[in-house]
Amino acid sequence: MSAIARVALLVIGNELLNGEVQDCNLHTLARRLTQQGFQVEQAAMVRDDPPAIAASLMALLAPRPDVLLVSGGLGPTADDCTLSAVAAALGRPLLETPAARQAVESAYDRLLAAGYVPQRGPEEARRKMSRLPEGALPLFNPVGVAPGVWLEQGETILICLPGVPAELAALLEGTVIPQLSVRFGRQAWVEGALVVQCEDEANLAGVLREVGARYPEVYVKSLAQPFPAPGASSVENAALRILAAAHAPEVTAAQAQVEKALRTLESACAGVGIPVLRREGITVQPGAR
Ligand code: ATP
Ligand code: MG
Repeated sequence: MSAIARVALLVIGNELLNGEVQDCNLHTLARRLTQQGFQVEQAAMVRDDPPAIAASLMALLAPRPDVLLVSGGLGPTADDCTLSAVAAALGRPLLETPAARQAVESAYDRLLAAGYVPQRGPEEARRKMSRLPEGALPLFNPVGVAPGVWLEQGETILICLPGVPAELAALLEGTVIPQLSVRFGRQAWVEGALVVQCEDEANLAGVLREVGARYPEVYVKSLAQPFPAPGASSVENAALRILAAAHAPEVTAAQAQVEKALRTLESACAGVGIPVLRREGITVQPGAR
């Protein structure tokens, strides 16, 4: 059985930490990588500041994740400093890389042909996006211009992706997940949920502890909601979801684990007088064996 590959995430951008833009890349990366059978273990968010980026990178690399994914700061403007910070942190020079230049020019060919831009960007801007830390490979960006970056540092694959959410998603789905799956194989990820009628989550604590201890391989978590507004007393206002999810090398094993945990949860809830409103279907992620 192959071990689950361990992933760390670093999301970069002043606008995220100022609260001007709500992050979605961390969420996309966490959700999609989990669904594809990876274990996301750590994440950090940092400003567009080279020393701060370098410090976060080193902290995330310290536990030697299999993969460190970085979002943002690859573009042509001066605040886009991810690659110089990566190069400095890893002690690698930043070099103009012909394959990256080729990726930038092909991206412009596509944008020109589609009429999205009237001309190529300035030479210095194109050159900036062609400079990669020594030893890195560019990942063609099918939506924007700045290529992603793939490099290997010790036992970790470090991947930098553009910050524009549509660009990040395109590179993630088209290149990163397929390549990581070849490298690490895939584990199945299966999810199911019970919806119970429970006004106070505290009443579930014992049930969750019991089921969690019995099925340590299944992640069991109640998703608390705000208490209903005064006067609102419908059953749905007291509805609370309990999630059960598992990774396993084979779909059938993961499904069986989640199924057993949900069944035990159902009877444990009934045992303490918590009505089960419904069982939500078990979902198996595509691509799993
Ligand atoms: P570009 O080449 O377009 O400059 P980039 O890699 O340099 O891409 P950024 O400059 O960091 O990316 O961000 C580009 C855009 O994407 C900005 O509008 C930014 O607010 C948005 N963005 C960046 N990171 C995130 C994120 N984590 N969640 C949501 N939006 C983001
Ligand atoms: Mg930018």
